[in-house]
Amino acid sequence: APRTDPGFSLESIPGVDVKHANAARMYDYALNGDHNFKIDREVADQVFAVMPSGPAVARANRAFLRRAVEFCVDEGIDQFLDLGSGIPTRGNTHEIAQARNPEARVVYVDDEPVAAAHTRQLLRGNENAAMVQADVRDPGDVLAAEPTRRLLDLDRPVAVLMVAVLHYVSDADGIVEMLRTYREQCTRGSFLVISHTTQDNQPDASRELRELLAASGTEVTHRDRAAVRALFDGWRLVEPGVVWTPQWHGSPPEPGDPAPEESETWCGVAELR
Ligand code: SAM
Repeated sequence: APRTDPGFSLESIPGVDVKHANAARMYDYALNGDHNFKIDREVADQVFAVMPSGPAVARANRAFLRRAVEFCVDEGIDQFLDLGSGIPTRGNTHEIAQARNPEARVVYVDDEPVAAAHTRQLLRGNENAAMVQADVRDPGDVLAAEPTRRLLDLDRPVAVLMVAVLHYVSDADGIVEMLRTYREQCTRGSFLVISHTTQDNQPDASRELRELLAASGTEVTHRDRAAVRALFDGWRLVEPGVVWTPQWHGSPPEPGDPAPEESETWCGVAELR
């Protein structure tokens, strides 16, 4: 994972909460990053005790993100709105996209102060990528933000990434309306990329895990395959539809690889026609 520059202290970031675990920093810990606090590591270790595949799940999700961004660039997409982008780690959206098309533009959105501060630091000097610290559940704020308006032209196709973030948006939060608003802002030829954690493979772990996450303040909504398909309402799924993360344009499994369902994550990519 990228290292912070000397003088960049996590605790000094305005708004950072070191008393409670946080999803962005627990995920950073799962990916072997160094932008997390003791409380994040403690809660993540409790989660991994119930779900030992946690770090592998995060890696498989990140590998899906890479393949999906590469797919979108190959489809001609040169602008990305990455919602719930997280703390920078190896293979960030702008690095993946700009390696294939140096002109590609990326707007990152996350509401977590460490994610926002570290992303801003990483993007210094990159005129084609920027960070918006906002709640993805408020599409109006995200779309009206100066970097979004400056970098993205929504009259042209864009890829909207919602990778491992929608499980933090409950039905009561108005996920259907939120998705509709983003879709209505996109033009034909745009892509929607979603990955979503599920309990379809381990229904029995569900209660314990849910209670643990709720107690830590990082409550999640698990959705089954049909519910994840429904998130693509109004879009046309590209092949192979909604599948486990390793199965989406992944290499054929090798002997000894974990079973695809052990990714515990459904994913898909869809185009607006
Ligand atoms: N998208 C990245 C990936 O898949 O590798 C990071 C996923 S991480 C599991 C989820 C991220 O979503 C965290 O960084 C968290 O701060 C962010 N997040 C959760 N709810 C959010 C919200 N309502 N608004 C903005 N960001 C949110």
